Amino acid sequence: MLADNILEMLKDEISNIEYERYIKQLKFDEKSSKSDFLVYKAQNPLIANWVKTKYSKKIAQLYEIKTGVKPKVEIVVTKFDKKRKKIIPKETQKNTSSTKLNPSYTFENFVVGSSNQFAYTAALSVAEKPGQLYNPLFIYGGVGLGKTHLLQAIGNYNLDRGKAVIYTTIEQFMNDFTYHLRNQTMDRFREKYRQCDLLLIDDVQFLSRKEQTQEEFFHTFNELHNKSKQIVLTSDKHPKLIAGLEDRLKSRFEWGLIADIQPPELETKIAIIKKKCELDGISLGDDVVNYLATTMDNNIREIEGTIIKLNAYASLMNQKITLDFAKSVLKEQIKEQQENITMDDIIRVVSKELNIKPSEIKSKSRSRQIVNARRIVMYLARNLTPNSMPALAQYFGMKDHTSVSHAMKKINEIMEKDENFKVQIEELTNKIKHS
Ligand code: ADP
Ligand code: MG
Repeated sequence: MLADNILEMLKDEISNIEYERYIKQLKFDEKSSKSDFLVYKAQNPLIANWVKTKYSKKIAQLYEIKTGVKPKVEIVVTKFDKKRKKIIPKETQKNTSSTKLNPSYTFENFVVGSSNQFAYTAALSVAEKPGQLYNPLFIYGGVGLGKTHLLQAIGNYNLDRGKAVIYTTIEQFMNDFTYHLRNQTMDRFREKYRQCDLLLIDDVQFLSRKEQTQEEFFHTFNELHNKSKQIVLTSDKHPKLIAGLEDRLKSRFEWGLIADIQPPELETKIAIIKKKCELDGISLGDDVVNYLATTMDNNIREIEGTIIKLNAYASLMNQKITLDFAKSVLKEQIKEQQENITMDDIIRVVSKELNIKPSEIKSKSRSRQIVNARRIVMYLARNLTPNSMPALAQYFGMKDHTSVSHAMKKINEIMEKDENFKVQIEELTNKIKHS
């Protein structure tokens, strides 16, 4: 079987020890795989996560070289599957066959803090009363903040109750659409997507500029909505900011409830790290947990990858994960992140967007427009750089940090009242991150 050969091919590319320890432990799951979807089984989450972060791209590349098809690679933990008692009535099995939900993405495994509380509550309400409260529910937020987790939690919750659930990324939806269009089997496509109780679509920002898919999705949406079937969407940005998305879709996405997930505050970050360690059976001292939470970026997926990496290194070297050990392993990674965004980046983007000269932002001018821009810069700098309030006060030649904290308060106040302003701040954040 080709998929097994691919694993063999990896042998030449990685160290023997890693091959024996991780790759050799995988089993190809022929039943669950398709020509563009490879599923491998691992016996424990450690192996699964390690392979996922380090090798799934490689496996996909090798497969693509061999077959010309770029597959999605999934590593599942077999033990998890056994533990999970799931009873799905016969007739819904047909409808859910395309659903690939990660069974550990549940509400119980989701750590709630003020950054994600709103989205969590909205998701749970919708899971409990699909089609009755907010339709659609639109969850948006930055990378690795838990959108897919919440979306799939809604799915898992309803699968357990025998509902017909379809979970798909918008990319899969698009591929499926193209496939059925080409094979003139659009009836089957429509039957599949229009006869479910819940349609969960991940990463709808990728609908951008895909006119034909947008058209089809528009009709899918309408039909489900008319039948009061629940639709839940996620995106990395507010619907207003998805460029190249038809207005009629934008407005539909805003029909129900829009819930954002913000980057986690320190406490939540710590709680999430502890939860992940508990789930993966990894033990980390509080000093290491605090170190990770304070030094790493907010992307939980990256933090998870780092924990797996630490654990794997430690077990390879037969060594405890002490704070020093963690520091030495992560030195390079953390340095890279912190050097990412500078004050100049922020000022450049803000001044361009607001049509103000960078020198004016740094000046002492009290004109309203400039004061406003300066506040925005301070707010963004606090969120995107490691600069403290006193450091920012010094940067702007202010007496002390009270002006900075006043600026933060002002911006937060306006954001709470004015949705458009909030969206503008998000847009600026995205631009700075990608500048
Ligand atoms: P997104 O879809 O927003 O990019 P994911 O939902 O894929 O992010 O989350 C990335 C990882 O972080 C997942 O493994 C997820 O379980 C975890 N995660 C994110 N937020 C939380 C949370 N609040 N509690 C527990 N795990 C979380
Ligand atoms: Mg996601």
